[in-house]
Parts: sequence; structure tokens; C-alpha cells
Amino acid sequence: MIWDELEVGLTRLAAAGLSRRRRALDSPCGPEAVVEGQRVVAFCSNDYLGLAAHPALVAAVREAAGRWGVGSGASHVVSGHLRPHGELEERLAAFVGRERALYFTTGYMANLAIAPALLERHDAIFADRLNHASLIDAALLTRAEHLRYPHGDVETLARRLAQSRARRKLILTDAVFSMDGDLAPLPELLALAERFDAWLVVDDAHGFGVLGPNGRGSLAHFKLPASPRLILMGTLGKAAGVSGAFVAGDRRVIEWLMQRARPYIFTTASSPVIAAALLASLELIAAGDERREHLQRLVARLRAGLDGLPWRLSPSRTAIQPVLIGGNEAAVGLAERLFARGLWVPAIRPPTVPTGTARLRISLSAAHRETQIDALIAALHDCVDDERG
Ligand SMILES: *Cc1c(COP(=O)(O)O)cnc(C)c1O
Repeated sequence: MIWDELEVGLTRLAAAGLSRRRRALDSPCGPEAVVEGQRVVAFCSNDYLGLAAHPALVAAVREAAGRWGVGSGASHVVSGHLRPHGELEERLAAFVGRERALYFTTGYMANLAIAPALLERHDAIFADRLNHASLIDAALLTRAEHLRYPHGDVETLARRLAQSRARRKLILTDAVFSMDGDLAPLPELLALAERFDAWLVVDDAHGFGVLGPNGRGSLAHFKLPASPRLILMGTLGKAAGVSGAFVAGDRRVIEWLMQRARPYIFTTASSPVIAAALLASLELIAAGDERREHLQRLVARLRAGLDGLPWRLSPSRTAIQPVLIGGNEAAVGLAERLFARGLWVPAIRPPTVPTGTARLRISLSAAHRETQIDALIAALHDCVDDERG
């Protein structure tokens, strides 16, 4: 019976400590959340600048709804491309200093668009082993060869590129690794792309808005030149506080995606109110140095405070601060104990991370206060003391 297999599968997931559960929030996204009747401080969201419920974005949505309505009614290539979408794309391209940008409904879809549109059989993808699931899925949607190199290992990548007979080559990487918080060696990767005549696709989901001058992202952080080989993907549901994503780069690449990328063409354009909220968000991001400085101070405070715990911290200087626990049950147990103390930190397990590396993924936001960081530090030390009893 088809049902039996599902039941067995679900039981197995539960037995392995891999069941996921959702918690419904009765509050907007922010550092203080009301979850199932309990008030907690949340360290879960990717709202790194605290913009998700910002009054300026809320006002932009109200005004845009009055002017443009809510739905867009069709795909961008039919009749769903409204003025705010176009304006957003122009502002995004200018902000990241690339020729052109294309707006997508989600980052997942943007990633599914790029590699499958650019590659065919006899082509090859060279992907970091710790890339986000959406980049892995993108590779699976192509008929190209999918080669995965060890995390951040530029030498192995160079060897594989040198050996490759592929017609077109594409290097695929997270800029800030989503479950580790460390940065990809982007200058070295770009140099390899130049040397081996490849494209370099950079997924800057966690760098956009946070890193670089004015929050222009990881490419600006590394001061990379606007090489036509570089294809930038940035998401707008994280630091930008709204939803959606963009791909920016050489105008020929962007035009090709608009013409050919199925996740762009065969979906309804997102609401114009989202585009309006993002236009407001871009202004706050550009003027957000204080927010970014506060966030950096919180990162330093947390790392100093967690020193001396029995668990390894990831070598991350970004807002993503994972504490490596190891076992699934142990990570979940720890997350539950923190939750009982009013601190919400997600436990991340396989397949999101490699087996045996379950972790607490602490994400910090500029909206957090220092006292909230201190409470988390104290609670983690208490958890260790409890265990040592
Ligand atoms: C979140 C994320 C995505 C997906 O973006 P969405 O807009 O949430 O669909 C893609 N890549 C990375 C690295 C991410 O962290």
C-alpha cells in the first residue's frame, strides 16, 4: 500500500530525531516572539537588520496597495510586470553595481533559474560541498555534469577545472554559507573563473544587506571587480526583510534568463506591494551603517561569551553563529531546554547539514539588544552546568 511506506518513513524520521515541527507565531517577525502562548527571545530568523516589520516598509505596502492593488495577475512576460517591479530591478542593479538585475519571487526559484538556463549536456557545474539545497537542486535540474569540491578547497577546484573537458563551466557557491556563517574565497574563485573561462555564480542570500559598504553584499566586501563572468544572486527575504530575490550581472546573461529561465517565465509575478516594500527596504539598507555596526558588536559579544563551552563554534564573523553539537537528539534536546527558558534557537539537523554535525544555529539581528545576547550566553553555560550536575 502506498500509505504504509509513508507511515514507515515518518516513523523512521521521528526515531532518528529528524521530524520537523512548525510553531505558529502570534507576533510579527522580530527579536521578541509570542509562540504558542509563550513569550520568547528569538534567534531564528534571517531578518539580520530588523526590517521585516519596520514601519517604513509597512507604510510602503499600504500605499502601494492603494495605488496598485494586490495581485499582479500574470507572469512577468505576459502582463504581470508592473512599474514597481521594473523600478526595483533598476535600483537593485545600480545598488550592486551590475548592468542589469532580474527580480524573482523567491531565492529558491532564482537559483533554479540560473544553471538550468545556462547549461546543457557536455557542460559542467563545480559546486562547493556545503552549498545551499537550492543550488544542489539547480544542478540536478540540468543535464550537465555535477562535480562537488570539498568546502572552500580552491586547489581541488583548480585541479578539477584543469581536467575538465566540459564545453561550458560554471562554478557555484554560497557567498556566506548558510549553516556555517563562513565566507567563500570569492577572489580566488573569480580568478579561477577567469583562468578557466567559466562563469561564477555567487549566492549572496546571507551577505546582501549585511556585508560590504552600504550593505552592498559579499562582492563589495571583497571589492571584486564587476566581471561579466560573475553572476550574483541575492535574496530579499533575509536582511531586506521582505521576500523574493534577484539575479544581477552582465546584460546578456540577464536577458537570456528573462527569455529562457523556466522559474522566471512559468510563474505569476509577485505582488507589486512586495516590490514597493523592497524599494523602501533598499533605502534603509543603504543608510543602515548603524544597524550593521550594532550587529557586528553583538556577534563579537556572543562569540566572546560562548568561549569555554564544550562545543565548537563555527569560524564565522557573520550574523550566523552555529554551535556544533553533533547528535540530532542532543541538538534538539538543547534547543528544547533553551526554549523552556524563553530562548528560541533552532536545532539544525541533516539533511540540512552533514550527518553528525547537528547544531544550534544562532542568528543575530541588529534588532537584538545586548541584554538578550547575555541571557543566551548565560543559559548555554547553565545547560552545561546542569549536565555536569
Ligand atoms: C534562504 C536561501 C535561499 C533561498 O532563498 P528564498 O528567498 O528563501 O527562497 C537560497 N540560497 C541560500 C544560501 C539561502 O540561505
